[in-house]
Amino acid sequence: TSLFGDGFRTFLSGGREVIVGLFVVAVSLAVAAVPEGLPAVVTMSLALGTRKMLQRNALVRRLASVETLGAATIICTDKTGTLTQNRMTVTDVWTLAGAYQIEAKQDREYEGDVHHQQTRVEVRDHPELRAALLAGFACNDAEWSQSDGDDPKLIGDPTETALVVAARRAGLTAEDSERQRIGEIPFDSTRKRMTTIHRAADLRILPEDNGTIAVVKGAPDSVLPLCTRGLISSGPNALSDPQRDEILQANQALGEAGKRVLAMATRTLTESDGYARNVAAETIEADLTFLGLVAMQDPPRPEVAAAVERAKSAGLRSVMITGDHVTTAAAIGGSIGILRPEGAVVEGGELEAMSDEELRGRVDAIDVFARVSPHHKVRIVEALRANDHVVAMTGDGVNDAPALKAADIGIAKGITGTDVAKQTADMVLTDDNYASIVAAVEQGRIIYANIRKTITYLLSCNVAEIAILFLATLLGWPPPLTAIQLLWLNLATDGAPALALAMEPGEAGIMSRPPRSPLERILNRRSSTSILFQAGLLTAVVLAAFGIARSGSWGPAAGTLAFATLAIAELVRAYAARSEKVPLTKLGWNANRWMHRAVLSSLALVAIVLYIPPLQSAFGTMTASAPMWGMVLPLALLPAVAIELRKRFVRKSSS
Ligand code: ADP
Ligand code: MG
Repeated sequence: TSLFGDGFRTFLSGGREVIVGLFVVAVSLAVAAVPEGLPAVVTMSLALGTRKMLQRNALVRRLASVETLGAATIICTDKTGTLTQNRMTVTDVWTLAGAYQIEAKQDREYEGDVHHQQTRVEVRDHPELRAALLAGFACNDAEWSQSDGDDPKLIGDPTETALVVAARRAGLTAEDSERQRIGEIPFDSTRKRMTTIHRAADLRILPEDNGTIAVVKGAPDSVLPLCTRGLISSGPNALSDPQRDEILQANQALGEAGKRVLAMATRTLTESDGYARNVAAETIEADLTFLGLVAMQDPPRPEVAAAVERAKSAGLRSVMITGDHVTTAAAIGGSIGILRPEGAVVEGGELEAMSDEELRGRVDAIDVFARVSPHHKVRIVEALRANDHVVAMTGDGVNDAPALKAADIGIAKGITGTDVAKQTADMVLTDDNYASIVAAVEQGRIIYANIRKTITYLLSCNVAEIAILFLATLLGWPPPLTAIQLLWLNLATDGAPALALAMEPGEAGIMSRPPRSPLERILNRRSSTSILFQAGLLTAVVLAAFGIARSGSWGPAAGTLAFATLAIAELVRAYAARSEKVPLTKLGWNANRWMHRAVLSSLALVAIVLYIPPLQSAFGTMTASAPMWGMVLPLALLPAVAIELRKRFVRKSSS
């Protein structure tokens, strides 16, 4: 008989039996062709992956962003709190009458010393110092929390709590009643300053204060232009140009030391300023008396420099976007490695002047954006995306929401972030930490690689099933596997090992290769070739088992043995599927203990179908004898062995 022998002849001779037979094969083929378990397994893999990400402080809000994370090429991050500890400490107060350093006493949060020209001084002897510190204390939203039992704690924006602490450390005796305000113009990131209004009866910053006064604090470049006078030892005086220069130089020097600088100013309000009826910023924040600069230190988080380096080796560039001053931003950026030697620093003002085209042309060379407002972030994201980058962007404020939306991965800060930012974001950092973004990118890559392993694993079984049925028909054999057996394989016995693949730890080197192209498909050439190779092996061993059984005395058990061979081959192959490239001996048998559990439980699922009588009749199986296993087991081992050998061969030939 020819290759087409029996099958072709019975097909031609027709008849009812053949039609029923064809129907059964058609159903089997349909079952074989559909990877029933795949959608569930992929969804569960993503969900398991997000659990691992949460352990590393990244809460994923949109499942699909896990995949995007693995392809990210740029991390746009803000500075305060993300790169730095957000633990501000005032170190310097600079006034037109002199510069002062504030130090805490050892282990004393609220006690300290003030130095002026290397000697200890008292705040009461230095009215300008007192005025600057008092202004920082009064124009302030930080509050003492009243938790019972414990010592009261300061809560609020770290910039502001630092000012309260500094006043105490300097020995300024100021009561909370002194900062009762009757009006305010709140801080916002665009104005970069805030103002509070007080009765001089409550708060006296300058000796001559009476009636009502305004206290302003904010970024020096935002506050200084509003000042017309400056406080010197003899009192407020018209601010001369050399004095202005002096202030700017002091600001520059403090910024170069990586410090955050705020300017303090005040003025007396008159009835005509209309403060009581209508707090209009333009009329109140004008004609101010400059009191001093307060500089605070916010050290970088210790783990950040290493994380920036790690991101770099993984092909990701980090870009700092901050509202802080250029010099401060550049100093910090340089110290943690974000600002490359050849990298550029651009200010919000310059950015404003650039066209979208210009920005797009320059954006790849810019490492630090300073003095930016939230709406600039959207332009930066769009310019980067136009250059084919996959952009992750952090944000915390309400105004950051559009930028978080525009980014490929919007990341909200969990601690300092507003609800609006969190709700817009794809991911929330529970610790506000830049290093957690890098960890999340790594996890994203691991999850993506694992899903590819899962898909390759499941699909090669499906392809094998189709090939087995197809070739058996060509050979004129009855279908070796029934529809219900195929379903059992696809859904039950393959499912657990496929899920265990999702728990695979990352392979060495996952963070030392460039991001995958966002255009790359999950089934790339390598995995498609693997699928065909593995399906070929499975087909060969299953048909061999079926053929050997048929030709000998095990004929009635042939289907059982084909099923057992495929099921066991799948379970052994699951170990080889743990890596596309790395041999199992290198991966370590126990690196993924989930696999042992999965394979054992699937083995039980195979056993009950083979040995429990009611299931035997449902699945068309029969009890296999020891000699039968003697044939099945070596055949079932073969595909995995061949895959492992191929890994070594492909590795050698490609390296
Ligand atoms: P960032 O915190 O990244 O510096 P912000 O937009 O919050 O960005 O702040 C911008 C600038 O406004 C800061 O550099 C600082 O000079 C000033 N600033 C920040 N917080 C306050 C505040 N509470 N009161 C007054 N000015 C502030
Ligand atoms: Mg801030």
